[in-house]
Amino acid sequence: MAVMSPPVKDGQYYFEHGDCTFLVEQVLFKLPRFALCQDANSMFADMFAVAKDDDDLAPIPLDDSAEDFRALCWAMFARPTEMYKMLAKPGDIDVQMYLRVLDIAHKYQLLEYEAWAWMMARHASDAVPARLKIAAEDELEHTLMLAVRCQDSAPELLELVESTWLARIIDGSLPHSRALTAGELYGRRKFQGEIYWNLRTRLTRGPQIASPKLGFSAFNLTDTQLNRLLLGHALLSHCMRTAADRPYLVPRLSDCHDHKPCQTFWDKSIPYPTHIGDRNWIYGGQNALEKTLPDSPFYRYELECVGSHLRSMASESNEIPDDLASYFLGPDPSSP
Ligand SMILES: [Zn+2]
Repeated sequence: MAVMSPPVKDGQYYFEHGDCTFLVEQVLFKLPRFALCQDANSMFADMFAVAKDDDDLAPIPLDDSAEDFRALCWAMFARPTEMYKMLAKPGDIDVQMYLRVLDIAHKYQLLEYEAWAWMMARHASDAVPARLKIAAEDELEHTLMLAVRCQDSAPELLELVESTWLARIIDGSLPHSRALTAGELYGRRKFQGEIYWNLRTRLTRGPQIASPKLGFSAFNLTDTQLNRLLLGHALLSHCMRTAADRPYLVPRLSDCHDHKPCQTFWDKSIPYPTHIGDRNWIYGGQNALEKTLPDSPFYRYELECVGSHLRSMASESNEIPDDLASYFLGPDPSSP
């Protein structure tokens, strides 16, 4: 049977003149109540409001890691010279330290410290994105959860976590499944939609990784995720096919006097787009046009409608649909 070692006093934050003691993972922290109650709405203020005097001697157990609690103490009891160094060279402090403070300050509703932690994290310019670029999936998921909880105090964090995680998925350095699961857990539809979109791009244009024997096992998705991918892929392909279905009318330029050859050429020689975001059919169409024109000077003028329309389609941005997530996840239940 494992014997629990007796509690030890924290090396830095056991103040003999403190008037309340906390037990965190077998570490004792003795602190002044006054500092913990400065935020009148904090959970500590509530805790002490109900505590009786004879509770003073018994340490109050807290369900935190000692490291997190130490970070909070660090934020509360930093010495003036240390404060000066933090402000002068914010990059010297590991940004994880600020995120730790943000996390625990949010938990105890210490609003001032929560706001301060995020200000300091941002003060060190690109320290947060730089950290996210190298963080492991565990840390990314934890930070996503933190960002969802702290949307009021750290409003930019959510976008930072999601965009950095997504970029690392797109460049192939992280897999899709864990991010999808985190997106599901925290109700991040847009994030999931963008990840599925990237999977779909790989499915249609990436290297061949699937076969009847292997299925799509190379994607390493859960059954639900794979179903969502395939459903979304089928829906997008279908909706795109419907949108591009013939008859397709080529817009007539104002100086085109006989538009019939333009339309005939379009119907016979322009390939179908195969899916939303497919640009290849446009280039196929432009090639077909180029091949036709030198030998048919008669049509050159008339076919300008075709050339002009293809050019305008080529210059349109390769836009991802706004409601992308709904193709994979179904309609958004929160929207009317
Ligand atoms: Zn025309």
